[in-house]
Amino acid sequence: MELWFTEKQTKDFGITMRVKRTYVSEQTNFQKLDMVETEEFGNMLLLDGMVMTTEKDEFVYHEMVAHVPLFTHPNPKKVLVVGGGDGGVIREILKHPQVDKATLVDIDGKVIEYSKEYLPSIAGKLDDSRVDVQVDDGFMHIAKSENEYDVIMVDSTEPVGPAVNLFTKGFYEGISKALKDDGIFVAQTDNPWFHQDLIRNAFRDVKETFQITRLYTANIPTYPSGLWTFTLGSKKYDPLEVTEDRFHDIETKYYTPELHRAAFVLPKFVKDLTE
Ligand code: SAM
Repeated sequence: MELWFTEKQTKDFGITMRVKRTYVSEQTNFQKLDMVETEEFGNMLLLDGMVMTTEKDEFVYHEMVAHVPLFTHPNPKKVLVVGGGDGGVIREILKHPQVDKATLVDIDGKVIEYSKEYLPSIAGKLDDSRVDVQVDDGFMHIAKSENEYDVIMVDSTEPVGPAVNLFTKGFYEGISKALKDDGIFVAQTDNPWFHQDLIRNAFRDVKETFQITRLYTANIPTYPSGLWTFTLGSKKYDPLEVTEDRFHDIETKYYTPELHRAAFVLPKFVKDLTE
């Protein structure tokens, strides 16, 4: 009997994948969590029926969330990840030797637990000595933080359920307060095919909060539409002005210094969302 998983990316369009087996299917205190093995993309984490990460294509998202801000900041020592319980962004952050401490704040401890068990290539660095894992609401953590972080990455689920507060202007203002006076923030801001208003509003709110605001993209086949965006807000450093000497060698499969620049070149229909 063939088993297929379909994510409805809109009410009329979806992505479907053949599933080999289901490891976990559990309602946590915050969301429905499924961990499955797929034929095409290896093990895959789903939250509330949405693809979060897969063993095959996870590197694109995790490298692009982490290395763009970390190569833009000249000396990032303290980094915060809001969400990110699968551990992929933390794994990429630790490739930067200047980073003394990476704090992860995910609201759902079950995501961390099952990612460690079924996604070891992604979650394998969560126990590193430089990592501080906290199970808490990222919104509350930001509200309690002031002048603390060099870089903040928001690796959250979509603005529904527990993440609904993480796409508000108030949250971006809280992030600005939690950052040091030359800090940088980046958030995943969904896709320009089905969520133009989310991108338009997030960019507007970040632009009203930070001195420098940039949008960049990456190709992620298992995310809705395959074209993903990231919104970056910076108090001082411009990701487009990173000089060659800043790029030290790290092991990647997607990010390169050339791609760092190219990712900010936007198709016209996407650029229009930033104006
Ligand atoms: N890369 C994925 C994406 O772009 O959709 C996100 C992956 S990561 C697993 C998303 C995480 O955000 C989940 O583990 C979820 O528990 C967490 N999350 C949702 N709302 C949160 C909140 N208010 N505070 C902290 N973490 C939250």
